[in-house]
This record gives sequence, structure tokens and C-alpha cells, in this order.
Amino acid sequence: MNKIKRNYHPWIYSTEISKIDGEFEEGQIVDVFLQDGKFFGRGYINTKSKITIRLLTTQPKTAQQIIEERIDQAIKRREYILRSEQACRLIYSESDWLAGLIVDKYDSYIVIQINTLGMDKLKDLVVRTLVKKLNVTGVYEKSDSSVRSKEGLGQICEWLYGTGPEVIFYRSEDLTLAADLKGQKTGTFLDQRFNARAVLPYAKDKACLDVFSYTGNFSLHLLKYGAKHVKLIDYSERSLQIAEQLLKLNGFDGKYELIKENAFDWLKQESSQEKYDLIVLDPPSFAKSASSRISAQRGHKEINLRAMKLLRKPGILVSSCCTQVLSEQDFEQVLQDSAEDCKVQACILYRGSQPADHPVLLDVPETRYLKFYIMQIWRRA
Ligand code: SAH
Repeated sequence: MNKIKRNYHPWIYSTEISKIDGEFEEGQIVDVFLQDGKFFGRGYINTKSKITIRLLTTQPKTAQQIIEERIDQAIKRREYILRSEQACRLIYSESDWLAGLIVDKYDSYIVIQINTLGMDKLKDLVVRTLVKKLNVTGVYEKSDSSVRSKEGLGQICEWLYGTGPEVIFYRSEDLTLAADLKGQKTGTFLDQRFNARAVLPYAKDKACLDVFSYTGNFSLHLLKYGAKHVKLIDYSERSLQIAEQLLKLNGFDGKYELIKENAFDWLKQESSQEKYDLIVLDPPSFAKSASSRISAQRGHKEINLRAMKLLRKPGILVSSCCTQVLSEQDFEQVLQDSAEDCKVQACILYRGSQPADHPVLLDVPETRYLKFYIMQIWRRA
């Protein structure tokens, strides 16, 4: 490698590599040396990727040692969460120095997602280690992300150890929630569970709208905290069906309406009226790379502006952004531009981010992605 990296960061770009010696297979673990011959680290290689090497360690350890130690560290980091939560993200890729690997725990079930060729080669070792260290009923691989095709990997969705249900129910505080193994990501969005709890002070007696609801995480919390009614919008029929199952299971019959629509179209039709006291916006990421920043900003502005119009004033807007390439500052600018166009004043009541089991490493800025705001929206006086 031709220069010393500034940060303790696992990525080595092709442009940083002066030469590659010896024979190797793509995805294999290789050693990295500085130009003066000093050992720099060990990681897996993929010359087809701009990030040619993803380091797993800066010490000369075996694959078994690396995986064991990184999994131990990841579990230790989350000890206090595991004590009180049935569901937890155990391993979050670069945030845990295990690039390409996501592991979520739902009670005694583990769901893993592998996104790189190098990590795919370590899969058996990872599964064996997880089973050894945790009290596991089943391990399911839900590797259906589109990024896999770039690594030459197909989709894999199957039980690798034991077996279990297609929809895994688990408790989160006093609610029953679910991970859908036929749904998105690893089945649920664990990154929003503490943010969903932050709506507590604002829910009582409110008429609410939960846009991009998935299986109803925010709606379930709003109803638990006393909301009068919730409308859930998502274009996935299956997600809404599971949401309904959960709404019933948790005793909220008669307090919800499900709308299977494209959220953009629906908000456009509705936003001439002020109908709701509280609106949640939790869209998917609108950009995969920095080149789509502008269109992502446009997308976020569109929905925030529509939601601001739809709110009774003063009302509560709960607005989230998981688009990694937009910074907190970028997203606040989007919110301010939306407020400007709508001629309202937006006052921040609460600002959240990703929970501690989705750790942000200061050395690895790419690990930071979630922005979460609860705002009061006032008519300008
Ligand atoms: N709020 C959820 C997570 C939402 S994930 C939670 O806390 O669990 C984003 C959701 O938006 C997915 O369920 C996806 O099906 C839905 N979605 C994406 N684009 C959409 C669109 N244009 N219209 C409606 N739903 C959409």
C-alpha cells in the first residue's frame, strides 16, 4: 500500500495500492503491507471492487481468531442492550469491523445478511461461532440485497441452522412486534425502535398518519401511547397484512386504517386539507451514491412539504432520513426549505439518530446514516 491511512478505517481503495504480489482468489483473506515492508493489516480482497480490500484486523491473526474476537467484541459492546431487549442488531458490518456482515437477533432466532464475496467465504465460520456463543434456536440467511450481484453473488434465503417460522414475533417493551423473513432487510427495522419510543409525549388523543409504515412500528407505538387513530400507508401489501396482524394482536382493533398506495401520489392528492395532528415520515433511502444526492433531496423535500400542508397547525411532524449521502445539515436544509415553501415555522422538539447497536465509528464516517426529527409545525404569525 502506498500511503498510511489517516483513520482506523477498514477500507483500502484500489488507488491506494501500489502492487499486488502472489496468487490469490477473489474474496480470499490477504495481508497488506506498507511500502517500507511493515505489516499493515489483514482483510479480504476483491479486485473488481473500487474498495479492493476490506480490512478485518490490523494484527496477523487467523480467520478463526478474527471472527471469534470480532463477534465477542460486538456482543460485549451490546451487553446492556441485550439485557433489556429481545431484539438487537448484534453485528453491523464496518461498524463492528466485519465488513459485509449483518446479524440481527430476534429472541432466540438469528438472521444474517451477507453482502460481500469475502464475507460469504467466511459464512460457515461465522455461523458456527454465533451458534457456539449464543443460545440459538435457528439461524436464517436473508441475503437478498441487490448489492450482492456486484460481488458475483446470487440471492440466498434459507435456514442455515435449526429452523423457525416465516414471521418471527418478539417483544419490544410492552408491544409484540415481528420480523418478516419474506420482508425487507433482515425482517424489520431495528434502527427505528428507540426513535419510535420517542413519540410518547406527543401521541395522546392524536389523529395520526404513518407514511412508509412497513409493518407498523411507529403506528403501534403511537397507539400504545394513546393515539386516537392511525392511518398506515405503504405500497407493500404483505407489510400491511403483517401490520394488521400486529395491530390486532396488540389490541388496537378499530383504531387504524390501512392504505396500500404509492406514498408520493397519495400525499399529493391529500395535501390540500389539514387533517392530521401527527404525521410520521420514514421513507427508504433515496440515494445509493453521492451522484443521486440532488434527487434524494428533492424526494425528501416533496414528502416533507406535503406532510407540513396536511398537518393541523400546530401539529407534530416526525421526519426521518436514512439516506446516508445526506448529512444532518443537508437534511435540516431540506426541512427548512419545506417549511419555507409551506409558510410554516418548524420547531425541533427532539433529534435522534441510530441506536447504539448500529454504532457510529468516528473513524468511519460512512457508518453514520440515520437522521430523525420530531418537530412542531406552526402557522407563521
Ligand atoms: N417505518 C418503518 C420502516 C419503513 S421502511 C418502521 O419503522 O419499521 C420503508 C417502507 O416504505 C417499506 O415498507 C417500503 O415498502 C415502503 N415504500 C417505499 N417506497 C414507497 C412508496 N413510494 N410508497 C409507499 N411505500 C413505499
